[in-house]
Amino acid sequence: MHLPIRSNVLQSLTVTTRGAPPRTPDASPQALSPARRVLRDTFGYTEFRPGQPEVIGAVLARRDTLAVMPTGGGKSICYQVPALLFEGGLTVVVSPLLALMKDQVDALGQAGVRAAAVNSTMPREEQAQTMREAIAGGLQLLYVAPERFGDGAFMAALRKARVALLAIDEAHCISQWGHDFRPSYRDLGSVRPRIGNPPIVALTATADPEVRDDIISRLALRDPEVHVAGFDRPNLHFGVVRVKNQEEKAELIAAKLRDLKDESAIVYCGTRKRVEDLTEYLRRQRIRCAGYHAGMEDKDRKSTQDAFARDKARVIVATNAFGMGIDKPDVRMVIHHDMPDSLEAYYQEAGRAGRDGAAAECVLYFAPRDRSLREFFIELQHPEPAIVVDIYRALASAGGQRVHVREVMKSDDERGVNAAIQALAESGLAARSGQMAWALRSDGEDRIDLKGLEAHRQHAYSKLDAMQRYAESLTCLRARILDYFGDVGHGRSCGACGPCLAPPRGAQAVDEAGDELFQDLRAVRKRFAETENLPPYVIFSDATLRDMAARRPRTRAEMLNVSGVGQVKFERYGEAFLAVTKRVAGPPPPSSRQPAPETPLRDRHGRALPETVRRTWELLRAGQDIPAIAAQRGVTTSTIATHIGHLIAHGEIEDVSPWVDPVTLAKVRGAAGGGPVGALGPIKEALGEGITYEQLHIARACINREHAV
Ligand code: ADP
Ligand code: ZN
Repeated sequence: MHLPIRSNVLQSLTVTTRGAPPRTPDASPQALSPARRVLRDTFGYTEFRPGQPEVIGAVLARRDTLAVMPTGGGKSICYQVPALLFEGGLTVVVSPLLALMKDQVDALGQAGVRAAAVNSTMPREEQAQTMREAIAGGLQLLYVAPERFGDGAFMAALRKARVALLAIDEAHCISQWGHDFRPSYRDLGSVRPRIGNPPIVALTATADPEVRDDIISRLALRDPEVHVAGFDRPNLHFGVVRVKNQEEKAELIAAKLRDLKDESAIVYCGTRKRVEDLTEYLRRQRIRCAGYHAGMEDKDRKSTQDAFARDKARVIVATNAFGMGIDKPDVRMVIHHDMPDSLEAYYQEAGRAGRDGAAAECVLYFAPRDRSLREFFIELQHPEPAIVVDIYRALASAGGQRVHVREVMKSDDERGVNAAIQALAESGLAARSGQMAWALRSDGEDRIDLKGLEAHRQHAYSKLDAMQRYAESLTCLRARILDYFGDVGHGRSCGACGPCLAPPRGAQAVDEAGDELFQDLRAVRKRFAETENLPPYVIFSDATLRDMAARRPRTRAEMLNVSGVGQVKFERYGEAFLAVTKRVAGPPPPSSRQPAPETPLRDRHGRALPETVRRTWELLRAGQDIPAIAAQRGVTTSTIATHIGHLIAHGEIEDVSPWVDPVTLAKVRGAAGGGPVGALGPIKEALGEGITYEQLHIARACINREHAV
């Protein structure tokens, strides 16, 4: 194998300049002509894909680079092409998946590239042989799993090689915010200085802005070039249909599928139960469809997948479990019966439409109450810190005895108990085996990472907020998605999505730049109007929201300068609007993310009440209702309801009639079969729209307290 290129341009790129300062990236055709030649000669492609020229230009200029491209967008080329241009220098590629590594190495070998992988499953001697080759300058690319950097022999060998570039694939695995955090990625930040300070290129398909920031800081990227590219899918047409309730949704979805005739469609639902209900409903409407969720037998899932692939089943109604390995090119429609928990999840699922490049439609059905399902799941995965503390206390008070997990939740909200125990286990305070859990020490309460727990929770809620703003958007949906992902260079209006084709009345009159923010603020206002049953203008007028959109206040004082925002209104609503304007005004000051310090106050049984619950209690006693407290404190109404549940469990509150009338309470009792109330999901399904999760929290605490006494 010979290196295909030798030119003056390349002299400056060789690793003989190791340690030289990074240059200004140059993605011009001249500067990239060697790269283009490699693309053609070695890989056989004539054109770069979107984003590849910019990323390769930056990498060749020895800049730290973060490349964000969708799956299949062509990330590998971004480090493989430079690797072939760094003469005599080695590109080390970190990748989490052994199988993928092997495929890459084989494919590169076929193309005549000198690539190899080392991993712990290989015999020691084979690893040593590969490393000798690397040191001798005989390798261009070396693929490794992140754990390798903890291996002394490997590191010693690597130090002798000339590492020209450190490429980190699936870089989101380093972020705790990511869906795919891997502990083995955690230490990658310290690798660079130990291998001669090469530039780093980090690659990921995850576009969550916080994950992106986290990658940059954890890898300590130096003044990185960030390129987000290739997310636009011009053949997809986005739409949102707003409905009153679940019945209307089902009817409209049936009509939509009927119009689709014999084409393929996927309908995503938020729960298994909804998959089953909708499948049944559609069948009654004579629409042939198959259900799919993770609770089904493997063989049934497999046969459903096959039937879909072979056009035997045209419509699949599924949870998000349906997707891995589905690459049917001609899905013409992806319908969402329930909004996912983030725009990324939405885009990933919707993106299964139109892989063949022909027009396809992505429609989200949205009812005002849909948010509560998502909040329910967030509470499961990211329980309030107060709940984690409570569970720790319950375990600690058992003095290291094994306790059934059901017992630690009996007097309180069990949502999130699994996540809570896991969090305790991760901080070494508790352990779990099957359904039994126990405390490992009894004095560890202040070692619970309250800030971390709260930050994760807030992160989940802010992703949900972005999803909801999409669902409620009156402006271009495509622009919203691409903005969220940080993909630049697209128009403000695609001309092909729901709002672009049928702009809502009045929306056009609004100034373009402030418009999205204005719409976001309207969405917040709408929520308050709904929960408080007030006309929106009573909360803030359009003129006030416009002024807010123009000024983008960051602080309480700035918010009070907005025309129409007085002290009282600020107390009631200010924080919620500020949360929106702050986001566009720039990153929030670090302190605003952190929860209030916990200054426990004893309840009447001598147990400490977390500060956050105590504040809610004070506001309740001052006569405020749930929406007002939630608005004032900038948390969800559901959170306030869990506080009330807490207060009921602690015996502070006995009368629940302000929130739950006796008839509703009796219904919940009935649905729970006369025993303690467990998970709320099934009860909510049984009782339907007539009861809110807030009421359910409170009813459960009330009923379970009777059982606890
Ligand atoms: P990712 O890692 O972003 O998911 P890959 O790097 O595996 O994507 O690339 C996806 C596919 O696209 C691969 O088959 C790759 O060879 C191909 N590909 C990458 N760049 C180009 C290009 N410029 N032209 C044509 N095909 C490309
Ligand atoms: Zn549009």
